Amino acid sequence: MNFKWFGTDGWEISFGNRTILFDPYFQRIPTGFFAGKFNPTTPIQVNETVIDQHIKKADHILIGHGHWDHIADIPFIAKKTGAMVIGSETHANLMRAYGVPEGQIVQVKGGENMKFDGYTIEVFPSLHSMGPTKKFAVPGHRISVPELPKTVGELPEGDTLIYLITIGGKFRVFLMSSANYVERALNGLKPDVALVASIFSNQIHDFTPRLLDALNRPPLILPTHWDNFERPFSDGAHDLRDVFGDAGNLDLWVRDVKQHSPNTKVVVLDFFQSYAA
Ligand SMILES: [Zn+2]
Repeated sequence: MNFKWFGTDGWEISFGNRTILFDPYFQRIPTGFFAGKFNPTTPIQVNETVIDQHIKKADHILIGHGHWDHIADIPFIAKKTGAMVIGSETHANLMRAYGVPEGQIVQVKGGENMKFDGYTIEVFPSLHSMGPTKKFAVPGHRISVPELPKTVGELPEGDTLIYLITIGGKFRVFLMSSANYVERALNGLKPDVALVASIFSNQIHDFTPRLLDALNRPPLILPTHWDNFERPFSDGAHDLRDVFGDAGNLDLWVRDVKQHSPNTKVVVLDFFQSYAA
């Protein structure tokens, strides 16, 4: 099983002849988000050359939530690969707006456990992270197919979902797109690998110990969505401590994990780096 990180919350997970993408996002366009001057009218751009360089095939694309830094590149990738795209009603309606064929779109709510050849994909209701005001940017839903979105502000969260991929009935991979969760929905899961988001996790009561306990202290955690995704790939991966202080400091969060679960291995990947588990 191979995990490749694209920065932000973007992952390629491959096993056997299968390729699953999670929130693949390559644009890294500055919206002012980390300067405290978020501009929702920032145009969506899709750099097809960069995507073509990194994405050759995909069987499924899983949508964690609908924000631009998760979803903006998915319509192009879906049309290019013909992959099945799995997401909420809002995410599905956004895909329809971009002309992704209906046959590729799978609309879920959380609770589904879908069987494929040798593996399953289970969906869990989840929540978006919260800043110090206990809110997040661009909330909302699309309950019908909207006009073609042209700006980042036209891509609302539209529910946040967690996915559990189980391969061969035993190897489990937990995928999270934002630093929040419904503890009671996750209790008893025992993933072998957990992708966990941590920005602003300090706004949530006992975020790390409650999550680790619910997941039975996974042997391997791959931190996700921790880098400053408005800086170009050429700058290298930087966490957000210079923007958000402790709320964006990955080292502090890794220490928190180690304190509550000393046997958990935490592997921080660089851009386009792969890890075999
Ligand atoms: Zn978000």
